Amino acid sequence: MRLCRFAEDRFGLVRDGQVFDVTPALKPLSYHYPLPRFDPLIAHLATLRADIEQHAAKTAGRPLAEVGLLSPVANPGKIVAAPVNYRKHLEEARADASIHHQKQVEEIQRVGLFLKATSSVVGPSQGVAIRHPERRTDHEIELAVVIGRPADRVSASRALEHVAGYCIGLDITVRGPEERSLRKSIDSYTVLGPCLVTADEVADPSRLDLLLTVNGETRQKANTSDLIIGVAELIAYASSFYTLMPGDVLLTGTPEGVAPIQAGDLMTATIGGIGSMDISVRAAEAAKT
Ligand code: MN
Repeated sequence: MRLCRFAEDRFGLVRDGQVFDVTPALKPLSYHYPLPRFDPLIAHLATLRADIEQHAAKTAGRPLAEVGLLSPVANPGKIVAAPVNYRKHLEEARADASIHHQKQVEEIQRVGLFLKATSSVVGPSQGVAIRHPERRTDHEIELAVVIGRPADRVSASRALEHVAGYCIGLDITVRGPEERSLRKSIDSYTVLGPCLVTADEVADPSRLDLLLTVNGETRQKANTSDLIIGVAELIAYASSFYTLMPGDVLLTGTPEGVAPIQAGDLMTATIGGIGSMDISVRAAEAAKT
């Protein structure tokens, strides 16, 4: 099943390039304050599937290309991200002072994981708004894993049972000396899309082609088989520190080829079996006073 969020908070089932508006299927999801620290839709996805199919059968589809896509996960409780999880990216980061900023780039086994603010999440139609145009800002394409049910100290061999699905993630990054969590948490610096592809449609997350182009020029081209720590092991590792909850997003790391973006650029991100999305880059508007 391929699910998306689009327009003004509409919920859609995607099939053969068409979106079917199945927003009424979300009616049973009512919560009261204090709100839960997980994504209610992802938490109840298994029980909602039949309703989603029924509503889709009753409505006319419209072309996916004509709708403005939002992040397929509306309320991730946390965004866990893996730094330097591809060997060739580790090598390019160590070789380029404008990436490493005089800091030793450690291997992922030593640096572990970091968190991105959930307020940084946007969908592809919302684009990336550059905040510090005088500084180097890079694209990073990553396979994004969306957790489906709580994972507390799970083993790698059982980890994939906790996955709701997959989407494309962009971990947009300002280079500089500050902590990763600060440089990567700017508003709009986490792009998720185009759809959530449920885990049953992804036979093997460790064999997916990734491609990122900027203005039609290839920048990043790799395969998730090159991950240093694979998807299942990353889930197991993250869950050894904190319980992963439904809707939590795990960004698995970016391959080599990271490079600057600037206002006016158009990024196209593609992951085999997941989909493709265009994301425009603009300058952030002046702060509202
Ligand atoms: Mn990254």
